[in-house]
Amino acid sequence: MKVFEAPSWWLGERRARALSGQTLGLVPTMGALHEGHLSLIRRSRAENDLTLVSIFVNPAQFEYRTDLTHYPRPLETDLARLRAEGTDFVWVPREEDLYPDSYRYRVTETERSTVLEGASRPGHFDGVLTVVLKLLQIASAEHAYFGEKDWQQLSLVRGMVDAFFLTTTIVACPTIREKDGLAVSSRNRRLLPEERTRAPRFYQVLSTAPTAETAARDLQAFGFVVDYVEDRDGRRLGAIRLGDVRLIDNVPLEAAL
Ligand code: AMP
Repeated sequence: MKVFEAPSWWLGERRARALSGQTLGLVPTMGALHEGHLSLIRRSRAENDLTLVSIFVNPAQFEYRTDLTHYPRPLETDLARLRAEGTDFVWVPREEDLYPDSYRYRVTETERSTVLEGASRPGHFDGVLTVVLKLLQIASAEHAYFGEKDWQQLSLVRGMVDAFFLTTTIVACPTIREKDGLAVSSRNRRLLPEERTRAPRFYQVLSTAPTAETAARDLQAFGFVVDYVEDRDGRRLGAIRLGDVRLIDNVPLEAAL
């Protein structure tokens, strides 16, 4: 497994690999890897000759400096996991590698990035799209793997790929859940024991309530603070808070009805 920082090193390597006909899958992450991330890597390994995993905690998508500085960065554990999965390349760019423009240029989506998650986190998706565009451009992969867990992110990335005629195919991967249904997330570790016991109700209610309104009401009755529950484009999407922790999830609507 080769670990590198500089895009210039990768560009040479990628050219040589492409000339010898090897296909590439990119898995963009912010590290603190768990089973959700590993499922994307396994899918990429099954569908490509080579897999490149990027680890970059992207400053542009954080609204608050403290969230950025507190984001977990267990690099050595992550690298051990990636090695065990048979990852070929791990790219850990430095900030200046990805933002030589000092954040002067950015991708802005004007309609669907300002609702749901975007309403609670202004500018978040511009930050996400900007870094994903840079990662896709440099990686030059045939496929890039994204989780359905972050449904709005996935659909905005797909929209950007279409809008800018990018050549990487975006592959959507199903949400990995704990046995009790809670979507796997690094935030789950921050739940207090009592909150962790209640948390699976989020998925259960999203999946079973007859309407988004009843889902929101039921979630409030269980003591969650509801940021939103909305049915859109065949999905039911929700965000709730338990204590300090904000959780998001979504289910296909046919499962919810
Ligand atoms: P992150 O490191 O949070 O930026 O996530 C990197 C990728 O992993 C994104 O495409 C996420 O949607 C995906 N991901 C995170 N959690 C899960 C999960 N529980 N199941 C499937 N994919 C996930």
